[in-house]
Amino acid sequence: MHLLKQTKRRRSFRCRPFVAGLLVPLLPQFLTACASNAVTGRPQLMLVSEATVTSVSMGAYADLVEDARLRRALNNDPQTTERVRRIAARIIPQASKYRPALADWNWEVNVFRADTPNAFCLAGGKIVVNSSLLAYLQPSDDELAQILSHEIAHTLSGHGQEKISNAIASRTALKALAISQRIDTIYTKPFRGLVEETVTAPNSRQTELEADRVGILLAANAGFDPYAAVTLWEKVRARQGDQEVSFNSTHPPASERIAALQVEVQRVQTIYREAQKTLAAPQAATPQAPAP
Ligand SMILES: [Zn+2]
Repeated sequence: MHLLKQTKRRRSFRCRPFVAGLLVPLLPQFLTACASNAVTGRPQLMLVSEATVTSVSMGAYADLVEDARLRRALNNDPQTTERVRRIAARIIPQASKYRPALADWNWEVNVFRADTPNAFCLAGGKIVVNSSLLAYLQPSDDELAQILSHEIAHTLSGHGQEKISNAIASRTALKALAISQRIDTIYTKPFRGLVEETVTAPNSRQTELEADRVGILLAANAGFDPYAAVTLWEKVRARQGDQEVSFNSTHPPASERIAALQVEVQRVQTIYREAQKTLAAPQAATPQAPAP
């Protein structure tokens, strides 16, 4: 959840032949680079593997943790760290139920003291919440759950992979075609720079709305009030207005997110109520899909 205005604009790429004539000879490879979201079923272009994105993300995460440690800004407030970890611990199992491979990740949750109101989850299961975001929004537990589930939803949805794939595809069609065949074996210096630059770049409008949708579902499965997603974004809008939270031209303004989330609140209401019953009488929970 980035709350700073950013100016970089990135082109999006849809899973369809963009230069038909050039693609025809390599169409089979191109098609195998298309995947679909584990929750929403939306087609996604994946020119890099999750292993590649995870590897780069782990390097970036290690640097960030080391920097925070050196600044004495890592988990300074034990109560806050415990609170964030406790809420995240309820949501993470919901994500792995939709995509079992996530259960094998070594999940970590940390709170950084940092001036930028921000939170993120990197591939590999590394979650960071900046203390300034908590100070800025003063979220309830249900609202904090929505922040965390939104970030986890980005990772569950492979948005990092998709973002990097879009960046590669937007450079030149031929490069995209070349690396769509053997991206991880030709993952050399020029592409490493691109991947590292992109992995921390803002998400697109489409993936932000998808993370809202998947996130509220994860939180509902964990027994957190879906309506908290609406009140959370109402807080953001009250503090910054629609314009300020449009991080770049492709991001949805708070009002659009709130309208979409209000629809999702209704879709996941039954899931939320069932999860609450489960919490009251502990038993194995089964993730559910929202009503169509
Ligand atoms: Zn997001």
